[in-house]
Amino acid sequence: MWNDSSYAVADIFDNIENTVFPAECPVCSKRTGHIFFYRHRDCYGGAWVWCSNCRSSSHTSGKVPDWWINPDFVDSRKLTALPDVLEKDRIHIDKWVNILTDNIITD
Ligand SMILES: [Zn+2]
Repeated sequence: MWNDSSYAVADIFDNIENTVFPAECPVCSKRTGHIFFYRHRDCYGGAWVWCSNCRSSSHTSGKVPDWWINPDFVDSRKLTALPDVLEKDRIHIDKWVNILTDNIITD
């Protein structure tokens, strides 16, 4: 079961570009926090944040970061509001996010 009423976990979204994943969870302080986005079109899509340890999770829809690229190892047809599919692939996903954020060009 996921605790999807825990909005505190969404604090992980605040500083993604400077975070190495898995990130420290704002709820339980373990380094088991993950994020995932799925771009539907242009800058619009879904966003997930969750913790493998305390099972806090949050899902929203809205703007996806410009640098995000949908990975081909996640089947978008299996995505739901809860991060069950993402949790199974968390090691891949963390690696993917770290690769994408290292490539951000900052001025
Ligand atoms: Zn946690």
